[in-house]
This record gives sequence, C-alpha cells and structure tokens, in this order.
Amino acid sequence: MWISIISLFPEMFKTYIKYGLINKSIKKKLLNISFWNPRDFIKNKFSKIDSNIYGGGGGIILKAEPLIKSIYKAKIEMKNNVKIIYLSPQGKKINISYIKKLLSYNKMIFICGRYKGIDERVINNFVDEEVSIGDYILSGGELPAMILLDTIVRQIPGVLNNMSSSQTDSFFNNGLLDAPNYTYPKVLKNLKKNTVPSILLSGNHKKIKEWKLQQSLGITWLKRPDLLRKKKLTKKEKILFQNFKKYYFKNK
Ligand code: SAM
Repeated sequence: MWISIISLFPEMFKTYIKYGLINKSIKKKLLNISFWNPRDFIKNKFSKIDSNIYGGGGGIILKAEPLIKSIYKAKIEMKNNVKIIYLSPQGKKINISYIKKLLSYNKMIFICGRYKGIDERVINNFVDEEVSIGDYILSGGELPAMILLDTIVRQIPGVLNNMSSSQTDSFFNNGLLDAPNYTYPKVLKNLKKNTVPSILLSGNHKKIKEWKLQQSLGITWLKRPDLLRKKKLTKKEKILFQNFKKYYFKNK
C-alpha cells in the first residue's frame, strides 16, 4: 500500500511513523508513505498559502493552487490509479466496513486541511471521498490522517504477527466488544477487585472460549447495546447471554 500525505505540517507524522505497526509495515515494505507540503508549491516566498474567504464571514482557508500542485506531484510519483481522500468533518464517518473498503485502494492521497478548511474547488475537482473521524472539529487533518493510517495498517495482511488477536478486538469480534483480558500477576495486592477469573487459569480452552463469548455478549449489552441490537444471536449465544444477565442482576 502506498499513501501520500499532503499537509502543511509533515513533521507531525515523523515521530508517529517511527513507532509500532506503522514503522514495522514500512520496514517490511508493506507500506510506503510520501509527504507533500503545499508550502513547497507557492509561487515565491512572499506568496501566501492561505487567504480570506470570499463573501466574508471570517477565517482563512488553504488556497487551491498549492494543493492542486501537491496532488499532481503525488499522482505523478504514484503513477496514477490513486484515490484522493480529504479528511473532513463533513465526510463519511469511519467504521470497520469503510476501512475494509479503503484497504482495497492500494494507492491513496490524504489531504489534510487547516484553518477553516480548503478551497471547495479542490474537493469538487479532485477529491474522490471525504472521510471524517467523528462529529467534532479538530484544527487540522493531520490527526485524522494518522488515525486513518493506523487503523488501515492494522488490516494490511502480514503487518500483525498475531492476526487472530486482532480478530477478537472490539467490532471485529463478530460485531461484539472484546472480552476482558488479564495478565501476570494472578493477584494484585491492596486492590478490592484483585483476582483473575478462575476459568482463565483452568486450562480448559473450550470453557475459556465460551466464557469469553459470554463476556463479550454481556459487555456489549452493557456498554454498546446498539451493537447487540444489530446482531442475530445463535441459540448458544442466547443461552450464554441469558446466563450473563441472570448473574449480572443477581450481583448488581
Ligand atoms: N470549516 C470546516 C467545516 O466546518 O467543515 C472545518 C475546518 S477544520 C477547523 C480544519 C481541518 O481539520 C479540516 O479541513 C479537516 O481537514 C480537519 N478536520 C477537522 N475535524 C475533522 C474531523 N472530524 N474529521 C476529519 N478531519 C477533520
């Protein structure tokens, strides 16, 4: 996968891509990232990258020409067949199925806006899709681009060592939330809730799997009932869920 990022602040990404799965995927040559700074395409050092908005109303936006030149340069380098994504609060909110769709685009250009955004003509003439990370406003598209990058990279085959671990992550877990996870030590001193559920130490893998499914059903019901409503439960899942509820109400 090849992602080109158009941003006024490419330095913001430099530390981020040195760590974790992003770094690993770059080293393994599963991911290539290029940066293009629209500032490199302003006419001369006296020209501005931004300007006031026609019609007034306050605020400034990024001018079209430096962004368009950045897009052309990125496209030439990537040899076309590129999807152009503008990170925008007006875009489609990311979720798993949308990430899977993005994953099928091997080459993407992410445009990060700043200030009050970018000249609409860039969107109308060049952008294939607008992507939002949620119904709130950030100061720039850089953090949304990093979020998008991060979640896409996790799904690139070969990036995660243990793909089965990511399949039990929330949402990927058949539409449920992840079950609670514990690690060493078995007892944490001086805490009220200090032990690990005994079933997890039993070595009985069938029972453990069942317990995890039951916890996922119950936790989804408690934390994200909207997800559970969307799911058609099997006979076995219904029984596990009923038992979770019984236990929950008894111990509430
Ligand atoms: N005036 C724009 C609007 O209301 O649609 C918001 C501009 S915002 C202050 C500046 C830039 O941050 C945007 O151009 C976009 O790239 C990015 N941005 C802000 N919030 C975002 C969100 N929720 N998702 C994705 N990008 C966002």
